[in-house]
Amino acid sequence: MTTTSRYDIAIVGGGLMGAALALLFCKTLPGRRIVLIEQKSLESASDDALAQPNFDARSTALAPTSAVSLQRLGVWPALAAHATAIRRVQVSDRGHLGWVRLDTDSNGGEPLGYVVENRAFARALIDALLACEGLELKTPDQVQRLIPGRDGVRLQLTTQELSAELVVIADGADSPLRHQLGIAEFNKDYRQSAVIANVRHQQGHAETAFERFTHHGPLAFLPLGGVQGRTSAVVWTWPEDQAAEAMAISDAEFLARLQTEFGYRLGQLQQVGERQSYALRLCLAREQVRSGIVLMGNAAHFLHPVAGQGYNLALRDGLRLAEVLQRAAGNLGELDLLQEYERLQVTDQRNTVRLSDGFNELFRAHEPHWILLRSLGMIGVEWSTTVRDTFIRQLAGRGTRRANPWGVIRSD
Ligand SMILES: Cc1cc2nc3c(=O)[nH]c(=O)nc-3n(C[C@H](O)[C@H](O)[C@H](O)COP(=O)(O)OP(=O)(O)OC[C@H]3O[C@@H](n4cnc5c(N)ncnc54)[C@H](O)[C@@H]3O)c2cc1C
Repeated sequence: MTTTSRYDIAIVGGGLMGAALALLFCKTLPGRRIVLIEQKSLESASDDALAQPNFDARSTALAPTSAVSLQRLGVWPALAAHATAIRRVQVSDRGHLGWVRLDTDSNGGEPLGYVVENRAFARALIDALLACEGLELKTPDQVQRLIPGRDGVRLQLTTQELSAELVVIADGADSPLRHQLGIAEFNKDYRQSAVIANVRHQQGHAETAFERFTHHGPLAFLPLGGVQGRTSAVVWTWPEDQAAEAMAISDAEFLARLQTEFGYRLGQLQQVGERQSYALRLCLAREQVRSGIVLMGNAAHFLHPVAGQGYNLALRDGLRLAEVLQRAAGNLGELDLLQEYERLQVTDQRNTVRLSDGFNELFRAHEPHWILLRSLGMIGVEWSTTVRDTFIRQLAGRGTRRANPWGVIRSD
């Protein structure tokens, strides 16, 4: 092993977050030496062969602000053909009073969000990475150890050693490097699993997303396949001790149970694709920055997916970090600089964590007073413009006062 190159920024992890960060830094910090290290190969030719395990059958609901960011990063043109706009949202509580209907009128005529399949999203990001001049890719290679020092951080990879002024750790929710650095976590185990699958239905979804609260837990249908689409990405939360059953039952049984919980809003549910299950917890790193180090994406905060906020928040974090780094005159790993990023982003993070956690807690509860509270909450969102606007602003990624989070990326 030989000590070789020194970089300004080293990003560890080429998941949806690390890949987007690499593009973002290339665009916003020209002239800086940037390297992305990913342990899985990113260069496989076909979508099915993408090696990263999270480039799976899931879909991601992107807030409008995220779509603008991806547009400015040059990823959206390749992604647009695979993105379905959300023009209507219906929220309902099975067997109880109250529902919420939101549409583009509540969002200045603009879509409330977009749904993209993770495989297409990953493909678009990776293609952009491979075409990105000034970015070095070390893949497949694994960072075994980080050794912080006085003038930067040494990275011991399987095949070589590097050093960087700033190491961005985006190595996922279990973050082996967070553990290696002894960074403590706040963990709240929801004792739930998200079972995901794509489901084909008799009627078109007309770009409507449904969020329904069932006795198992929240159930989301996210529209896929464009305006005429008859497929939705389903995210169904189950108690953890029953999730194995949801995975094991036959397709016919799964569809029958889903139909009972969801009803006939989309007609007969006809076909279900590959099912996958994810254990759910809230995991927050107790330190997100140290001298020369910043945690990003799932490594910094892993949220319940009920409100579709995890990636959207992570992208906003990335924009904020890029904005702070742009102002740096010297070393990008200066602690003051990284603490400034943390200070600027803390409110957005806190609000988004509360929204995701609160949504799940409110809608999983069976006690009468909680049922009453959520019925009143839904009536409030349905009938009060102020409550509805606040709710939409947060979901759309505009919850904090700063109106233009993507302004950091120069528009070409
Ligand atoms: C069921 C579900 C639904 C979701 N839906 C939404 C949604 O609708 N909207 C939304 O905004 N968010 C959603 N999310 C959240 C979203 O999926 C994540 O925010 C997103 O995947 C970002 O992940 P990441 O890149 O931080 O981590 P990961 O995807 O885990 O990537 C980490 C990467 O680091 C690599 N790696 C790890 N260790 C090393 C090492 N030592 N050296 C080199 N490489 C390494 C791994 O191979 C991997 O590629 C959902 C999450 C779940 C579970």
